[in-house]
Amino acid sequence: MEVKKKDIRALTKEQLRDFFVEQGDKAFRGNQVYEWLWNKGAHTFEDMTNIAKDTRAMLHENFVINHVKVDQMQRSSDGTIKNAVRLHDSLVVESVLIPTATRTTACVSSQVGCSLDCRFCATARLKRMRNLNPDEIFDQVVAIDNESKLYFDRPLSNIVFMGMGEPLMNYNNVLKAIDKITSPEGLGMSPRRITVSTSGVPKMIKKMADDEVKFKLAVSLHSAIDEVRTSIMPFNATFPLKDLREALEYWYAKTKNRITYEYVVWEGINDTRKDAEALVQFCKFAPSKVNLIEYNPIDDGEFQQANPKAIDMYVSLLEANHITVTVRRSRGKDIDAACGQLANKS
Ligand code: SAH
Repeated sequence: MEVKKKDIRALTKEQLRDFFVEQGDKAFRGNQVYEWLWNKGAHTFEDMTNIAKDTRAMLHENFVINHVKVDQMQRSSDGTIKNAVRLHDSLVVESVLIPTATRTTACVSSQVGCSLDCRFCATARLKRMRNLNPDEIFDQVVAIDNESKLYFDRPLSNIVFMGMGEPLMNYNNVLKAIDKITSPEGLGMSPRRITVSTSGVPKMIKKMADDEVKFKLAVSLHSAIDEVRTSIMPFNATFPLKDLREALEYWYAKTKNRITYEYVVWEGINDTRKDAEALVQFCKFAPSKVNLIEYNPIDDGEFQQANPKAIDMYVSLLEANHITVTVRRSRGKDIDAACGQLANKS
């Protein structure tokens, strides 16, 4: 029986160093290979030109490098790019490059499908197949960094974990990927340019606070009234607003990092003054900011973007209460690349 080779990128730097020592080589060789894997983006052992030929052959005997492959790239009329990314086991996730005048943001996936059941989100209709490995998250970022350099003549500037999946349900791998993205041996990016977006898993928000993470936190709130939130995000029955609030208070106390709330206003669901007042109340326990995001229809017409008057009502009430609010236009809608539209349609 053929022994299944191990993915070399599942090894930490320490483990790689130990491996070389066990082989009778120098620990330093581990550092060199690590740099090839994480900084120089080697796809094969042959690429590692400063490693002796015999050593490369030995690595080939023992390991594989499971690189993702961008299967299909679509470009929107507004410049947004969507990548369909094929994983080593043939599953596909999507990631998005969002350009503005000054920035390039990568929107990356953390899981294949999603285990949550937000009724307005296309990804929720794909059942969760598996978590992404750290290297699979890292590779999505590298692919977008390369595309940014190629098409926009500048490196990637920001990353949001707002693609497919719930990042806090794959916390350890997301954290390991961010480690690689921020470490000088990886992409050397500042954690302040990374935002993790969650539907709100209280226990994991507390864990993030305990881990003293340096990236930013965004919470998909959509309603500050339990009954309403449960009707559109059914898992709110398990993690009600009281628990979410308590976890966020803990987060703020520990990190002193402002919280961003993502919020869509839908007609007939959360477009009344009472809904907006509940949001204002919810925003008061810790410094926060509200992003009112445009709804991206996902085909069946059950949800509809609220009347602009309702959005204006939200904006003036939030501003009157000194809460920062921005109204976000969607990008990449024509190629199904906008928030909540990632569902491997092709
Ligand atoms: N699971 C994470 C990250 C992925 S979703 C989370 O829930 O935060 C990224 C954002 O898109 C979330 O705020 C989500 O609520 C929002 N979203 C989902 N479907 C949408 C849709 N059809 N239109 C607009 N935003 C949507």
